[in-house]
Amino acid sequence: MKYHLETIPVWEAFHREDECPVCAIYHKLEGEYLDTALGGAAMDPDIRLMTNELGFCRDHLEMLYLMRKRLPLALMLLTHLQEIEKDLAAPEKLLIDPEGAKSGLFRRAPSEEESVRRLLDVLGKHNSTCLVCDQIARNMDRYLYTILHLYQKDPQFRETLTAGKGFCLPHFEALLTFAEKTLHGAVRQEFFRDLCKVEKENLYRLEGEVEHFTKMFDFRNVKGDFGSSKDAVPRVIGKLRGTPSERSDGIETL
Ligand SMILES: [Zn+2]
Ligand SMILES: [Zn+2]
Repeated sequence: MKYHLETIPVWEAFHREDECPVCAIYHKLEGEYLDTALGGAAMDPDIRLMTNELGFCRDHLEMLYLMRKRLPLALMLLTHLQEIEKDLAAPEKLLIDPEGAKSGLFRRAPSEEESVRRLLDVLGKHNSTCLVCDQIARNMDRYLYTILHLYQKDPQFRETLTAGKGFCLPHFEALLTFAEKTLHGAVRQEFFRDLCKVEKENLYRLEGEVEHFTKMFDFRNVKGDFGSSKDAVPRVIGKLRGTPSERSDGIETL
């Protein structure tokens, strides 16, 4: 598959020196799609249709709320709620009034098991979809491809990656998976080796920082210096599960 290269945003993300540059790319895309969701494009019939159908996950609904564009958000929620009510109506009716269903589509009253299954299917779909998550997922491969391309073609990038802070575990997994699918030969082996090395070094670094943090609570260290460990806990959380968006409320240090 041919991807369009996105070298500028990739370099920008690696220059931030965060715990995960791929998270920085993720949050950049996330910001763009959140702005689109409540911006002028929200009135575009295609976007409107997708918003109504997919809705948003909890994190993205909270971020949309924090954007303080109350009327566009309320209008979007109104039509999305109407769409959900429409989808739930038929399976709910089967559970509330199974006998009544006989006169409609069914020759016999559906069993309770069947009716619950229908309702769970509809709920399962609504509870697992998000327009922003979906748009990010469909675009992330371009950035992973660019990272691997730069690693192969640009020695300066390779140096930046190998001397960097590694990646969060979900993006460590994403890079390994993407490299396994797309790289071949010696460079594939080099990439696996460099990626594992930088990840391992940085997990040890964080372990040291969080250990130092815990020691600062010992009465013998009353005047001790937290140093870089001050925000080690939120950074470890970010390393384990992905760094939080600047648009979310974030996690307090100390
Ligand atoms: Zn990440
Ligand atoms: Zn989402």
